[in-house]
Amino acid sequence: MTPTIEPEEHKALRSAVATLGKRHGRNYNREDLWTEAGKLGYLGVNLPEEYGGGGGGITELSIVLEELGAAGCPLLMLVVSPAICGTVIARFGTDAQKREWLPPLAEGTRTMAFGITEPDAGSNSHRITTTARKDGPDWLLTGRKVFISGVDIADATLIVGRTEDARTGRLKPCLFIVPRDAPGFTRRPIDMELNAAEKQFELVLDDVRLPADALVGDEDAGLLQLFAGLNPERIMTAAFAIGMGRYALAQAIAYARDRTVWNTPIGAHQAIAHPLAQAHIDLELARLMMQKAAHLYDAGDDVGAGEAANMAKYAAGEACVKAVDQAVHTLGGNGLTREFGLASLITAARVARIAPVSREMILNYVSHQTLGLPKSY
Ligand SMILES: Cc1cc2nc3c(=O)[nH]c(=O)nc-3n(C[C@H](O)[C@H](O)[C@H](O)COP(=O)(O)OP(=O)(O)OC[C@H]3O[C@@H](n4cnc5c(N)ncnc54)[C@H](O)[C@@H]3O)c2cc1C
Repeated sequence: MTPTIEPEEHKALRSAVATLGKRHGRNYNREDLWTEAGKLGYLGVNLPEEYGGGGGGITELSIVLEELGAAGCPLLMLVVSPAICGTVIARFGTDAQKREWLPPLAEGTRTMAFGITEPDAGSNSHRITTTARKDGPDWLLTGRKVFISGVDIADATLIVGRTEDARTGRLKPCLFIVPRDAPGFTRRPIDMELNAAEKQFELVLDDVRLPADALVGDEDAGLLQLFAGLNPERIMTAAFAIGMGRYALAQAIAYARDRTVWNTPIGAHQAIAHPLAQAHIDLELARLMMQKAAHLYDAGDDVGAGEAANMAKYAAGEACVKAVDQAVHTLGGNGLTREFGLASLITAARVARIAPVSREMILNYVSHQTLGLPKSY
C-alpha cells in the first residue's frame, strides 16, 4: 500500500521505518522504540540540519509516523515534540532556544509536550484564560489545561497562554516553555479508556515563575507562531490515523484470506471484501490529501496548508474509524479478543476524530472559510 508518486528517498525512508516498526510490533516498549528511532535520525527528520535534524519537512515526519502506526507501534509524541514544538522553535525561537532544544528534540533525548486545551474553552481556543504577567524580568503563568499528552515523559511542555497587550490591554496568545518540575506546575493523570503508552493529564499552573527566555520567540507574533505549529499537528494526526487504519486493515485482510467457515475463506464473501476495499480506498484518498497538505506546508504556504491540513485530518480520522470498525467486524469474535488486539483500537481510532480539532470544527472551517457559508456560532 505504498504510493508510487513518492520520490525514491521517501520510499526508502518509508521502507526503513517500516522495518524498524515491524521489529518492535504491537507489543512495543515506547521508550525503547523512541530511543532507537532517535538514534536512527527519524524523530528529527523535519528539523534543520544545523541543529542535528534531517533537514526535511513534515512530509518526511509524517512518513515516519504513518509507517510506525502501520506496524502497530505509533509514537504519539511525534505529533507533539518534533512536529509542533520543534517546528515552532525552529521557525520562531531565539538562537539560544534553538541551540538548547532542537538537537535533543531531534535525537529524542529530550521531549516536549504541548498544552493548549483548557477545561472551560475546549474547541473554542479563543476562550483560553491561562495568563502570563510580568514580574520584574520574569513571567508568572497561571491557568489550567486538560487532556495534555505525555507531560510525565516530556522534559517540558509548550504552554499556550496569553499576555496583556501594553497598548490595547487585550490578551494575546503567547507560547511558554514550562519545565516539567517547575514549582507551581502540577499534573494529574486523567483516567482514560485508552490503551496507549502516552497518558493524558490535567495541568494546574499556579503562579509558575519562568525566566524571560521561557517565552518562545516574539510576544507580538504569538498567533502566527501558534498557527505554524497547528498545521503540522493536523498533518501528523492524519498520519497517525492512516497508520492505525492500515494496521487494522492488514490484520483483517490476513484473517479474511485464511478463515474458512463454509467452503471458501470469508474474504471471498463480498459483504466482507467490499467494506475492506472501501476502507483501503478511503485511507489512500486521505493519504493523498495529507501529502498535499504536507507539501504545501513544506513549501511555505501556511494558508494553503491550513485548509488542506484540516481536510486531511478529517478524511484520515473518518477513514481510520471506519477501517478499524470493519477490521474488528471481519474477525468476528476474535475482533474482541486481547490476542488479536483490535478492539482497543476502537477507542484509539476515535482520538483522531476528536483531537486536535474535532470533526465538526473542521466542517465548520470548510463551511465558512472554503464555501463562504454564514457562521452559526
Ligand atoms: C487522547 C487525547 C489526547 C489529547 N492530547 C492533547 C494535547 O497533547 N494537547 C492539547 O492541548 N490537547 C490535547 N487533547 C485535547 C483535544 O484537542 C480536545 O479534546 C479537542 O480539541 C476537543 O475539545 P473538547 O474535548 O473540550 O470538546 P468540546 O469542545 O467540548 O466539544 C465537544 C463536542 O461538541 C462539538 N462542538 C463544539 N463546538 C461546536 C460547534 N461550534 N459546532 C459544532 N460542534 C461543536 C465538538 O465537535 C465535539 O464533538 C487531547 C485529547 C485526547 C482525546
